[in-house]
Amino acid sequence: MCGIVGYLGNRDCTSVLMDGLEKLEYRGYDSAGIAVFEGREIKTVKTRGKLSAMREKLEREGKPSGHCGIGHTRWATHGEPSDINSHPHSNGRVTIVHNGIIENYAELKEFLTEQGYTFLSQTDSEVVACLLDYYYAERNPLHAITETLKELRGSYALGMIFKDFPDRVYAARRGSPLIVGMGSGEGFIASDIPAFLKYTKEYVLLDDNEIVRLDNDGTRFFDVHGKPVTKDVQTAEWDVEQAQKCGFPHYMLKEIHEQPDVVQKTLDSLVKDGVPDLTGIGLTDDMLRGFQRVYITACGTAMYAGIVAKYAIEKLARVPVAVEIASEFRYMDPIVGEGDLVIVVSQSGETADTKAALELAKSRGAKTLAVVNVKYSAIARLADICINTLAGLEIAVASTKAYSVQIVSLYLLAFRFAYARGIISENELKRLTAQLEKTPETIRSVIEHSDECQFAASQLINTETLFFIGRGFDYALSLEGSLKLKEISYIHSEAYAAGELKHGTISLIEQNIPVITIATQRHVLEKTISNMEEVKARGAYIIALCRKGTTFADGTVDLKLELDFGELDDMLVPLPTVCALQLIAYYSSVLRGNDPDKPRNLAKSVTTE
Ligand code: GLU
Repeated sequence: MCGIVGYLGNRDCTSVLMDGLEKLEYRGYDSAGIAVFEGREIKTVKTRGKLSAMREKLEREGKPSGHCGIGHTRWATHGEPSDINSHPHSNGRVTIVHNGIIENYAELKEFLTEQGYTFLSQTDSEVVACLLDYYYAERNPLHAITETLKELRGSYALGMIFKDFPDRVYAARRGSPLIVGMGSGEGFIASDIPAFLKYTKEYVLLDDNEIVRLDNDGTRFFDVHGKPVTKDVQTAEWDVEQAQKCGFPHYMLKEIHEQPDVVQKTLDSLVKDGVPDLTGIGLTDDMLRGFQRVYITACGTAMYAGIVAKYAIEKLARVPVAVEIASEFRYMDPIVGEGDLVIVVSQSGETADTKAALELAKSRGAKTLAVVNVKYSAIARLADICINTLAGLEIAVASTKAYSVQIVSLYLLAFRFAYARGIISENELKRLTAQLEKTPETIRSVIEHSDECQFAASQLINTETLFFIGRGFDYALSLEGSLKLKEISYIHSEAYAAGELKHGTISLIEQNIPVITIATQRHVLEKTISNMEEVKARGAYIIALCRKGTTFADGTVDLKLELDFGELDDMLVPLPTVCALQLIAYYSSVLRGNDPDKPRNLAKSVTTE
């Protein structure tokens, strides 16, 4: 969660740090701060609130002027968002920014208090600054860092500056991401590449338990014992444009509109000669034939992508698939082992719970497949096999395009799975793949009708609670539609399998409670219509998302959104349909005066448990 940045070079450090933080603000935004060397003095400016509050403070109090410093946007875990709890934290001769959680902070705090240290903040992070100072007796920063890291439990990415070294930035990581930007005559540290993409595309991935030092002689890497290590320099494929809004009012809207292209790119990367080819990622038909069971484990939207995949894999490949919330999977002692395929899905590839689920599955001998959007992420590197989805950079906190490419990849897997197991013929494999190839076009046609979604959203702005219902794939989509709406509009909503509502929750339906019904699955359409009638009879206001040409009895539906899927198989319509749900959520958020890109309390890339 949270973003950290650091810079050493000839540019104005404050501008570089603030630019970087802006690109990372999606990771956390309840407070922000920077610490910059002005000559030999460290000047720290920090404040509670979004980066805009920080900008105002810099205008008021003056911008630190220098060439070396660190910065942070926070997603509080320990201590409320406040000026004092904002990072950077200084204690003694060391100033730090921290992303993650120091699990043994209480015992370290007790020890340091006995040594005479006093604490200003309620954060777990401040103990790191103190401990570094404690081990800085020999005035050797690297020694202080290696000694400190030995004591820390939990997860961290740290940016550190030492008062005696006004031209050095140190950083270290374990469990939280940290990337080093390699400019010419300058160096950067950041939680993610967009923070320095404007200045350099060359980067080094810091691994767990490694340390980096930026100084005027260049950038050096060390292991946890302080021994030098050599690292590969890589080149980022993203360009600066991806990190900008390009004329859209919000990243989320831009990312919704990017879906036809990113779905196409992801298809192009996994389809060869008209069929899914997974041998490139190391998944052969032989392997697919051998699996007895599949688990899909993930969090939030990625988990809901897993539910779409469950319906597709079970329907086509006839293999049992269990979808588990990653934070449950890791502690539930799952029956998983050799012969099982465990699929983990994560946009960032850094989601702590998903990573832990993956580690557990590996340790039990299951084959692991990661579906991730960041190819240099921890999960991508840990899994046996990796599908790298090609959504590009996703900045809005609420995931949209990453979800679509996750389900595209998982559909292709389902098709290949079914073929490898002899359940569908090569012709059917080709037909299904050709169908999926049509989805960019159908997604485009749904997005073109965004004004209808905007109108649907306008019907929701005064409601405090609503329902999403659907059956089969429509149920899987209801879950995602409901989550998206809750995340950014703050309207309470529940997703139900349409047939399940009457087993209890229908008691909540009263006059004008909106029920968004997804009714695209033709084989259960009549059943879904009956469920719509049931809630209509109790006063619900029904918004129906359906295939163009679907008819309902007079008076059943209050607002009909007819989506043009052409001849697309019912199984694949979640792809265009989700775009309509994303747009409804987006406009609901905007119409209610929220910032859809930065919903309250949330952060992208959840690197804590
Ligand atoms: N645990 C630290 C805090 O609450 C860091 C949180 C973060 O990663 O933003 O300040």
